[in-house]
Amino acid sequence: MTTTRSETGTGENLAETFSQYVPSIEARDIVTIKERYGLLIGGEERQPRDGGSLTTIEPSSGEPLAEIAEAGKADVDDAVTAARAAFEGGWRDLSPRVRAKYVFRLARLIQDRARELAVLESIDGGKPIRESRDIDIPLSAAHFFYHAGWADKLEYAMPGMRVEPLGVVGQIIPWNFPLLMAAWKLAPALACGNTVVLKPAETTSLTALLLGEIVQEADFPPGVLNIVTGAGATGAALVAHGGVDKIAFTGSTGVGKMIGRQLAGTGTRLTLELGGKGAHVVFDDAALDQAIEGIVDGIFFNQGHVCCAGSRLLVQEGIAETLLGRLKRRMDLLRVGDPLDKNTDVGAINSHAQLQRIEEYVGGAASEGCEIHQPDAELPERGFWFLPTLVTGLGGSERIAREEVFGPVLTVQSFRTEAEAVAKANATSYGLSGGVWTEKGSRILWMSQRMKAGVIWANSFNQFDAASPFGGVRESGFGREGGRQGLEEYLRLEPVHS
Ligand code: ADP
Repeated sequence: MTTTRSETGTGENLAETFSQYVPSIEARDIVTIKERYGLLIGGEERQPRDGGSLTTIEPSSGEPLAEIAEAGKADVDDAVTAARAAFEGGWRDLSPRVRAKYVFRLARLIQDRARELAVLESIDGGKPIRESRDIDIPLSAAHFFYHAGWADKLEYAMPGMRVEPLGVVGQIIPWNFPLLMAAWKLAPALACGNTVVLKPAETTSLTALLLGEIVQEADFPPGVLNIVTGAGATGAALVAHGGVDKIAFTGSTGVGKMIGRQLAGTGTRLTLELGGKGAHVVFDDAALDQAIEGIVDGIFFNQGHVCCAGSRLLVQEGIAETLLGRLKRRMDLLRVGDPLDKNTDVGAINSHAQLQRIEEYVGGAASEGCEIHQPDAELPERGFWFLPTLVTGLGGSERIAREEVFGPVLTVQSFRTEAEAVAKANATSYGLSGGVWTEKGSRILWMSQRMKAGVIWANSFNQFDAASPFGGVRESGFGREGGRQGLEEYLRLEPVHS
């Protein structure tokens, strides 16, 4: 990702970008957006029995895009019943080799329909097409390919264990990487022989629903994947249902904690991937050009709507001024605007509510005496936008220094020693990600052993691979997605004694 950004950061004129702000009609033509979407239950698209509907909004225009079904309790119950029937009616007992073929076929079909998925993702979620095209969709396909490979090797992956699927899994996903988060959850669940009820986020359900169509096209047995769209109440109905064997949730820490409390003692398995406040620690011996690209990518990728974003920059005192000057000049070159323009670096904020949240954080920081820096650029008149922002002059106790903003906003603090860097990096209740920039390998090890985070990147940031486990510690949740560790979250493992 870092390289993609640096390749395009060529410094063309921002004003020219905005005067050319026209939606890319050609790109729009390759997707069909229906007026109304139903639920996917037992292999059929249906309207809700006891729910209503929601309007999904296009973030770059603020205009309605489509109506999506809002599943009520009875619909959630139907979906769980369909998933149970599919599990017991054959999916559980299918030869792992055949299961692998289904998952491979799905991966291939995602590749075949990559352009359509990428454009739909950018229209519905507001993210730059370059990111959907080069990151979200290829990584989604890669996740299915990777897990298809495991489907018939689970006994090998877990030596000495009897390996069984859990059963019916409820998966609740967020709006920042709609297709990719669906892939992260679905691929291991299906490869391990579970059936699924998936609840996409209310502002970004369209690519999950298209994925539902692709699953049908791949000829999966009815009920193996069910999709219940809707808002928080639909997710809550799935958690409260009682008929699922596991809930996998990615979203805010507040909702995650609530789900944890609700499921405590029920025997329902749970994994939580929650918020973050990742620290990006830059030492004075770091390769500055690379570090700046990493910092920019770490916070402005996907408008900062990234749970593992490097939203806190900690820079060693001796280079703070130089680094900040260069960072500001680099930020001036970022193109903010039409998500469907392939030269866009920063797209639209996902929703009006999220924009308000970001504005509140930055407004609050200004009133607490922090300095706010933004590039001198105009934003499109319609839609939801926020300029890339630097916040300096922090004491460390401000809300913006401690809480997750989930927007293109980077706070900056300096440090003198390694010990101070560790103390500042850990001065948060979260523990999802972190980054260390230094030429010294021993320092990378020293720092990564002390920084409290599930993932630490060294001289890079936001690198993802289906083979490496991802997840948090502390208030960022528990459980891992990806790699062999991610498989365990979807299996019942019993030691075999001979
Ligand atoms: P955000 O505040 O960033 O939208 P949420 O945690 O509210 O994050 O949303 C993540 C996902 O959780 C979405 O699919 C959302 O609909 C769902 N959700 C929200 N509230 C609940 C709840 N009480 N129980 C279960 N799922 C919920």
